[in-house]
Amino acid sequence: MPIEAMPLNRRRVLSAMAGAIAGAAAGGASAGEAPAAAAAATPPGAAPGVFNAIATDIRTELKQLAPNVYAFTQREAPGQTNFSVSNFGCVVGPKSMLAIDAGGGPQHARNFIAAVKPFGKPFDRLVISHEHPDHIVGATQFPDGIEVVAQEETRAQMVKMRAPATPAYWKTNPAWGRPDDVNRLILPTVTYRDRMSVYYGDIQVDFVWPGPAHTSGDTLIRLPREKVLFMSDIAFFDVTPLNGSGYVADWIKVCENILRDPGVETIVPGHGPVGGKAQLDDMLNYLKLLVREGRRQYDAGVSAGRAAAELDLGHYAKWTDADRIAPNMARLYTEFAGTIGTSMDRAATTQATTEYNQLKRR
Ligand SMILES: [Zn+2]
Repeated sequence: MPIEAMPLNRRRVLSAMAGAIAGAAAGGASAGEAPAAAAAATPPGAAPGVFNAIATDIRTELKQLAPNVYAFTQREAPGQTNFSVSNFGCVVGPKSMLAIDAGGGPQHARNFIAAVKPFGKPFDRLVISHEHPDHIVGATQFPDGIEVVAQEETRAQMVKMRAPATPAYWKTNPAWGRPDDVNRLILPTVTYRDRMSVYYGDIQVDFVWPGPAHTSGDTLIRLPREKVLFMSDIAFFDVTPLNGSGYVADWIKVCENILRDPGVETIVPGHGPVGGKAQLDDMLNYLKLLVREGRRQYDAGVSAGRAAAELDLGHYAKWTDADRIAPNMARLYTEFAGTIGTSMDRAATTQATTEYNQLKRR
């Protein structure tokens, strides 16, 4: 089934919007807002107690996927957290370029912009895949007045963030920022609802809303002729998916539809290396494992933190940031309970994570 034909679950989005507590997504924190109890090094949007450090050594690669189509991937050094270390994309047209996502720190965006500078074209457009800080805060580094595109729900979530704080670690961690960097929110100037297409020479680029998945307003960036799909955080390869504001039942359906789509071969995930359907299928099985075991424990009255601690992750235990199973389970429990909102339930996440950490320490 082509991506456009996926069933859209607007009722879910609308009811979630109505029930949403005001506040930004990405774990409930706006870009730069760190939980009060956590150390200064806690990254924006981090669940308290889960991510107590950020990467200091980030390796990058510019990879050509098709003529004039590139992925710019970022990866933390072994043993460091992948938190907020995200991927970019670039489509080069005859006169200008499209940027796909903006990165989680101003330095990430500067590294991306420097990597594609040899193509000799200015950026005329940036597409934001969703509102999580690791995909939007680098937007300040792109030319003033550039067109910024997002799905309408993503823009609505960004509006709620208002003025984000500047993370303290930008001053001390050159992998993220410089002492003079100031965090500012750049709002999308163009929104769409179901789908829109833009053209860079003869390359057609479709922005597609597949319905709720990793967030309520994710954009898939699809190049039909090149069979390239930038999935952003609907896909994580080699890195544990983060279900901070996701809808796992819908997320699974979106992935299954993409696996059946003959128009997709190359997949750029939001985090991790470029892959294809085999890698997406592997990640999908993580989501299915989460739901299967989560459902069993939820029905048995077991807490989310204990369910996470008792879950045998198998080979996913080797994926970066495997401890995300705790916030992932907490969010899934709100989906089962019918209390799910567009933003993460911070109290439930903190509780699950604390219990998970206690049980794992034993
Ligand atoms: Zn995300």
